[in-house]
Amino acid sequence: MKKLSYLLMILLLAACGSEKTASISSDTLKDTSSAKITAQSIISQMEKGKYRDGELLVKFKSGVVKTSSLKLHQTMGASVAKSFKIVPNLELVKLPKGLSVKDAIIQYMSDPNVEYAEPNYIIRASSIPNDTYFGNQWALNNTGTYASGTADADIDAPEAWDITTGNSGIIIAVIDTGIDYDHSDLVGNIWTNSGEADCLNGLDDDVNGYADDCKGWDFSTCVESDEDGLCITPKLEDNDPMDEYGHGTHVAGIIGAVGNNGAGVSGVMWRVKLMPLKVLDSTGWGSNGELIAGIQYAVDNGAKVMNVSLGGYDFSNFVYEAIETANSAGVLFVASAGNGGIDRIGDNNDLTPHYPSSYNLPNIISVAATDQNDTRVSFSNYGLTSVHVAAPGVYVLSTIPQGLFSDFSDKEFFAGTSMAAPHVSGLAGLLYSYYDGVHNTQFDNYQIRIAILWSVDVLPTLSGWIQTGGRINAYNALSFLRIPTNLTATAASTTRISLSWSDNASCEKGYKVERKISGGSWTVLPDTLPNGSSSFTDSGLTPNTTYTYRVKAYNDIAESFSSNEAFAKTLLTDTPADHESGGCSIGARQNIPTAIADLAVMLMPLLIIAIMRRRR
Ligand code: CA
Ligand code: CA
Ligand code: CA
Repeated sequence: MKKLSYLLMILLLAACGSEKTASISSDTLKDTSSAKITAQSIISQMEKGKYRDGELLVKFKSGVVKTSSLKLHQTMGASVAKSFKIVPNLELVKLPKGLSVKDAIIQYMSDPNVEYAEPNYIIRASSIPNDTYFGNQWALNNTGTYASGTADADIDAPEAWDITTGNSGIIIAVIDTGIDYDHSDLVGNIWTNSGEADCLNGLDDDVNGYADDCKGWDFSTCVESDEDGLCITPKLEDNDPMDEYGHGTHVAGIIGAVGNNGAGVSGVMWRVKLMPLKVLDSTGWGSNGELIAGIQYAVDNGAKVMNVSLGGYDFSNFVYEAIETANSAGVLFVASAGNGGIDRIGDNNDLTPHYPSSYNLPNIISVAATDQNDTRVSFSNYGLTSVHVAAPGVYVLSTIPQGLFSDFSDKEFFAGTSMAAPHVSGLAGLLYSYYDGVHNTQFDNYQIRIAILWSVDVLPTLSGWIQTGGRINAYNALSFLRIPTNLTATAASTTRISLSWSDNASCEKGYKVERKISGGSWTVLPDTLPNGSSSFTDSGLTPNTTYTYRVKAYNDIAESFSSNEAFAKTLLTDTPADHESGGCSIGARQNIPTAIADLAVMLMPLLIIAIMRRRR
């Protein structure tokens, strides 16, 4: 049965265009948010989880007044460290010394005003150590000459850049270890908060909840953590999201290192606004409370895409709710599928979920990693339901804070699904740049996600392992419903006009032809033209009349803008050639004198030979 469904999906994917809705809507993970949450269920989950001591996330029921919640905190000896707008009535609470997280959950959840409470689970960056490898940016354009790679095992970036190289109006939030916003290859593409008039006055000038947040925010409440992820040195949030670990800067460079500036590396997008949101500390660790805060900031401040190259194994209702709210706000959430457990052997996320990538929400794209030969990397998590696409994730060259790993370099090779996800975020940004209602039909986050999923290059090593069975292809994705061009119209007879155009779309279900006569309005012709169509003959027209045409590509989720308009005038009278239709052969229509003349011509050589022979 399973094999059959793999096969079915591959077949559906191969027919890029019409039927793929089936594979998209096959997300069948349980909707965990609706399950009954009890203190017991939370405690049994936390026993195998990792969380911050002395902290608790508590959500009060809606309608509970502030005085009641404060009173409860006081009786517990706890204090509110932070509240969240994105998950209403949620608070991060500091517990008094001596009160365990487990006991606090029991006590809070016995209060009728509390909806539920959960530990502040730990998350970490999804990168793994990678030996420095001499090479290039094979992920964008693989010539097959580096790291024993395979030519064209890449995302077809140069081809995509012929369509668009990005748009500095598109904001992509990098929810990570921060970004080295001074890096020479990034500085031109860093988001700045234009509403924050003065970056040093200690005031929240634009009233977005953050004072002096000119370059994003540092939500991290920890300087560094131990090897189990427990915070050694706590700190307060601040307005400086500088990266002290390297991970976020590397991710940011993959999405949008300034392209074509003759230096360093090039991002998938050459032009973009990267929003630095630091939720992980200088050792790559963080918590759900910090993640939720980062998601909230991204949603509130105009991000179209969030790149979230981090994760853990503990389900959180609160993170789920935050991403759900981001979905309602139309923000795409691109997450790394994770790099297996401590053994670095990829897990099946359908069985062992990795969060946030495994939350079953329609704005999430969960990303696995491939290598320079288009093979799934052994460390990469997978999952036929819960992991959607793959992207390059080993020997990925990108920006790092200068001097962090060596005295000279400001770029480095990293590996991990952390590096795969930002290729997808960058592609989403390119798609937003092109499908923006100016170049083409305007896409929402749902349509952007579908364009990425439907346009993958299906690969043998991914089929049956992840939902689409493929590695992203930027060119194919951008061509998704690319506008048809070069439409020409030619009169074929008194009643017919022939059209031809360039089929530029990669994922169309077919083409629609529209027609009008002078002074009239456009009507869509009923003819169904299959995908790949580039010509059509309109018939049943009135003689000696001018008709104007335009065509557009469409599929189940959208249609392109229309091509150029082309017109032609049907003929006044039929030419003889017009009678050719109807299956008559030329010979049968010939009259007798013509036939005799033809015969004479055919016999002429024989006649000449006969005459020549006689003369001898
Ligand atoms: Ca502000
Ligand atoms: Ca200020
Ligand atoms: Ca096509």
